[in-house]
This record gives sequence, structure tokens and C-alpha cells, in this order.
Amino acid sequence: MGIYQEFGITPIINASGAVTRLGGAPMNQETLAAFTEAARASVPLEQLQASASRIIAEATATEAGLVTSGAASALTLGTAAILTGYNLKRMETLPHCQDFPDQFVIARQQRNGYDHAIRASGAHLVEVGFDEIAANAGVRQTETWEYEAAFNAYTAGVVYVYSSKSKPDLRKVVDIAHKHHLPVLVDAAAELPPKSNLKSIAATGADLVAFSGGKAIRGPQSTGILCGKRDLIGSAALQMLDMDDHLEFWDPPADLIDRTKFEGIPRHGIGRGFKVSKEEIIALLVALRLFISGAYDASALTARSILEKISQRLQDCPVQCSIRDKKDKGSLPILEITVRETTNGQTAMTICRDLRYGNPPIYLGHAAVKEGKLLVNPLHLDQEAAEIIAERIHQNFS
Ligand SMILES: *Cc1c(COP(=O)(O)O)cnc(C)c1O
Repeated sequence: MGIYQEFGITPIINASGAVTRLGGAPMNQETLAAFTEAARASVPLEQLQASASRIIAEATATEAGLVTSGAASALTLGTAAILTGYNLKRMETLPHCQDFPDQFVIARQQRNGYDHAIRASGAHLVEVGFDEIAANAGVRQTETWEYEAAFNAYTAGVVYVYSSKSKPDLRKVVDIAHKHHLPVLVDAAAELPPKSNLKSIAATGADLVAFSGGKAIRGPQSTGILCGKRDLIGSAALQMLDMDDHLEFWDPPADLIDRTKFEGIPRHGIGRGFKVSKEEIIALLVALRLFISGAYDASALTARSILEKISQRLQDCPVQCSIRDKKDKGSLPILEITVRETTNGQTAMTICRDLRYGNPPIYLGHAAVKEGKLLVNPLHLDQEAAEIIAERIHQNFS
């Protein structure tokens, strides 16, 4: 009996990829071994985070970094750091920001469910611009002058949700924010690969950048990375770490937390609930090293043969299979199965549902299910799982 069965749960076949609701990415053997070894010793967390900071700084070409509990908490901590800097009184009052600037300007088309993590710090979002393309009412999206027009005495910073298609360009947004001495926090949680994004996003001058640790990096799913300006990372670290110490002993590494910039020792901050364990930090660092070294790149080839196997088995079904290769090195191809209308009442929706509630449960990618498309992400699949998936889809037509 497997460990999940022992606790009354049946593991699923995950054809959805590194999605959070199904447990994130699979951890590599080397990462798992590091996790287990790290769990056997004790270390001061601020020293471990300082080591992590140096490694993340090098990997991202930034001044400093912090391992957070997911990109979502990196957003909350990054926002908190911008709101308070090293001001201990402000740290203590979060999420209330009565007498200091608390507005973050964001392009209207970049609003999304993850911005709750920004608001959780106490910040208020101020939306600017329109997405006239989405509304089919024009040709423009938010423009940089609209950010500038929204800046006022209560503005604390700018939030930007990065993708290769995000408009206006991040660099232009950074320039206009910096002209007004305002920092920019970037959500780039799922923007790896390409590996080059580790450095190129911060290279725009953005002050803080958040990445997920449990997506393409394949670290523990509860990890993330916040990287950027040293003092902001120091403030974020202060607001996350456990602060139960005597001032007389407390001596955090100076390259992570600059004690000369404040008096005293803060109490537990707004991020204390977002703690990251020593073994999670080590596993994330090992996974980051693997990701950077290209250790996962070879899996794209195996992934392709797995997807080909599924499409061959479905040749006599009323579906059209196509394997979509992503252009970024290290990205896995995706199998797109378009269900034709002339079938026995089966649609992408009914098949997706049937597989999910069958035995074993199979979770297909559902992002395009309403357009009649089933998606197979090979990240978690082996040949055996591929056979089961193909067989079960096939059964829906026989
Ligand atoms: C996944 C994701 C997040 C959250 O990342 P976690 O590491 O799961 O906390 C935030 N923003 C965007 C755009 C994402 O895709």
C-alpha cells in the first residue's frame, strides 16, 4: 500500500502539469535527497536565508533574494517591504497603512486572482487604462502616461504582471516609476522557462521580481523566490522570519538584513505565517541549480515520445491530435486533442469529467475545454500513465 492509500486517498494521473491544486511539479531525485538530508540538522534560518540570498542574487543578477512560501507570498512580502522599508513602526501596523502611502498602480488588464496577495499586505490597488482590445472596442491597452497620471502623494509603488506579451513594456513602466522615485514589483511567477527570464526581467531595473519555486524550477510546490534590491529583500526577510530573540544576541547576516538602518528588533511581521522550512529552502536551491544547469532539458524529448504514443492510440477516434512544441528551451511540448462534433454525444467537457471521476482519476489539462480541446501536459507522465490515458479516452468513443 502506498503512503497516500494508507491515508485513504487515491493518487491521480496528472496530465495537467505543475498546477498548484494538484500538488505542483515533480521533484527530481537529487532535490528529494537534499530535502531529506537537510531535514536531519538544525540551522539558524536567517543564516540559511542569507546563503540563499547570495545564490539567488547570482542566479538572477540582482542584489539579494529570499526563498518565500510560493510566488504568492513573495508578492505579499514584496508589497510589505515596499510599504515599510526598514521602518519598524510601519511593519508593526501592517496591514493598516493609515499614515503612509499605500497605493499600488496596476494596468487594468493585468488584474487577476493573484493580486489578492498584494492586497493582503494592506496595499490598495489603483487601476489605470483600458483593455480596448479585449473589449473589442478599440486598438489600445494601458499606456505609460496613464501610470504617471495616477501617481500622487499616496502612491507607494507599481505592480506589473509579466508575460512576453504584457503591455506597456516593463522597461518603460520602470522608467516612468523611477522618474517619480517609485519602486516596481513584478509578478513573474510562471514566466520560466526561458531561463533567461531569471535575469532579464530584473535587468529592466524592476525593484522586486517574484517567481514560483514549484512550477518549472521543480522545487517544493510551497516555495517561491523574491529577488531584487537589497534593502527591500532585507525588509521582506525581517517581516517573514521568526523574531523571538534578544537584541543583545541578534546578529543577522549584514548582507541580508542591514541593522544599521533601524533601531531595535521588530516583532513577528505580517509574513510570519508564510514561513519556509530549512529543508524547503535547501530543496529549492538544489532545484534552482538543476533548472539553471539544464538538467531538465532532456525531458522534453521523452515527453514528446509519450505524447506521440497517446496520439497514435487515438488515430481511429473522432479527434484531431497535434503536438504543440514551445519555442523556449526546457519547455515541454503539449498534446492538444480536439474533439470533433460528430461523435456519440461526447464533448471535450464530458470526456474531461469522465476521466477525472474514473479509476484511476485522470486530470487532463482543461484550459481549452470550452473550445472543445483536451490538453495533455507530459510533465508528470511516464509511458505507463500515457497508455492508461490513451485507453481511457479511447473508451469514451467505443
Ligand atoms: C502560479 C502563479 C502565482 C502563484 O505562485 P505560487 O508559487 O503558487 O504561490 C502568482 N502569479 C501568477 C501569474 C501565477 O501564475
